[in-house]
Amino acid sequence: MKDIYDVIIIGGSAAGYTAALTLKTLRNDLDVLLVRVDEKAQVPCAIPYLAATLETCDKNILPDEPLKKLGVEIVVDEVLGIDRENKTIETAKGLKFRYGKLILSTGSTPFTPPIEGTNLKGVYTITKKWEILQELQKAVREAKKIVVIGGGFIGVELADDLSNLKKDVTIVEILPHCLLLNLDEEFAIKVEEILKTKGVKIMTNCRVEAILGKEKVEAVKLSDGKTIPADVVVVAVGVRPNISLAEKAGLKIGERSIAVDEYMRTSDPNIYAIGDCAEKRSFFIGTPTPALLASVAAFEARVAAANIAGLRLPRTVLGVVGVFLTNIGGEAFGAAGLTESAAKRIGFDVITGKAETVDRHPGTMPGTRKTEVKLIFSKDGGYLLGGEACGGSCVGEFINLIGLAIQKHVTLYDLYTMQYGTHPLLTPSPIAYPIIAAALDAYKKLRS
Ligand SMILES: Cc1cc2nc3c(=O)[nH]c(=O)nc-3n(C[C@H](O)[C@H](O)[C@H](O)COP(=O)(O)OP(=O)(O)OC[C@H]3O[C@@H](n4cnc5c(N)ncnc54)[C@H](O)[C@@H]3O)c2cc1C
Repeated sequence: MKDIYDVIIIGGSAAGYTAALTLKTLRNDLDVLLVRVDEKAQVPCAIPYLAATLETCDKNILPDEPLKKLGVEIVVDEVLGIDRENKTIETAKGLKFRYGKLILSTGSTPFTPPIEGTNLKGVYTITKKWEILQELQKAVREAKKIVVIGGGFIGVELADDLSNLKKDVTIVEILPHCLLLNLDEEFAIKVEEILKTKGVKIMTNCRVEAILGKEKVEAVKLSDGKTIPADVVVVAVGVRPNISLAEKAGLKIGERSIAVDEYMRTSDPNIYAIGDCAEKRSFFIGTPTPALLASVAAFEARVAAANIAGLRLPRTVLGVVGVFLTNIGGEAFGAAGLTESAAKRIGFDVITGKAETVDRHPGTMPGTRKTEVKLIFSKDGGYLLGGEACGGSCVGEFINLIGLAIQKHVTLYDLYTMQYGTHPLLTPSPIAYPIIAAALDAYKKLRS
């Protein structure tokens, strides 16, 4: 180990890992050091599946080998301070390293709401720490009654996986439906219906007032006075960016996260910030937006790495489109960009198009699944603002395609005349390709 590196990365999850991988791929001559707190870094997105699908936390490890193979050095330690004048960092184990460029990818930690009882035994938040996840995994497997507070994507994915263990699971959500921050109501209702058929109880429009128990949790009390018995409570109500290191170093902080420019540079040109700790701006209106996703973290990591590596391409982050995917009870759901309700809230005059088809052709093919696509366009200019879909696994790629189309300012006319490939075992039929059919539906409405 040396004491001076071209690039030092703090944090080794989605953002830091991708930055290290990309930097060494683009510029193998750079000396890159990655410092992360955790001995065993978890794949964060698969954490809900530790309930039933993944046998142990060790099956969910982000492997070091690809980084080591490229020559990235890894130190397991906590960075306690940054000396910007001397361009050095100091760690908890007393190590000191000098950097040319520094990347902050310190991520986020779960938010604990200020309600009584969150300190009781049996109450968990969903951290990314291996030791705590092991404890949580054991606790939910032993529990009979589990209450999940929060019906966002982490809460519903966890409840879905817990239902595979035949546990008595209740989701308590403050909004009228689960996943309403990600999906329009008609898709959110489908998610709830699937969960209900799997035995999950869903209480919406409900606020948790307190978690009850002596030393260990016994129940959850709602604001209407009702109580739900519980052996384990999982609080999944969002995360907060880890910005204390940046704050201590005197870097500029935005609304809640580290302020960055379009190249992911902080207020210090030698320090970049990426992933959950870095501020994101909406692709549509430029205001701060909480799109804390691994896909966004990895994208920002590539932008920062390309700029540090000296690529002379305009690798700017012009705002986060927000592409979201999940799978509930075997049904894929996804959304890119704005939902119809979010677009209207922002002030867009919108036109939507819908299509329903099957994901293979003919529909008699074994394993065929119903697939629905909804596209949201601005009436002015016909620009694609968002898309949602549900169905089989093709939904993932539909949504990723829609995400790029939004990023590239594609219109409904472009989609209507899109060129594409089909195959009976791989895609919907060429005559009923849902993205085109939904664009056509919107076109028809626009002309009528
Ligand atoms: C349960 C769950 C499921 C999710 N599912 C999805 C999904 O399906 N798709 C998706 O796109 N996103 C998903 N997300 C969101 C995604 O996981 C995050 O957006 C992503 O992990 C952010 O990556 P990051 O590297 O910025 O931060 P983090 O993953 O938070 O990692 C930050 C790392 O930095 C380390 N660190 C912090 N401070 C220091 C320090 N001072 N010194 C050294 N190391 C430090 C931390 O220990 C941590 O390892 C999910 C999140 C959770 C919790």
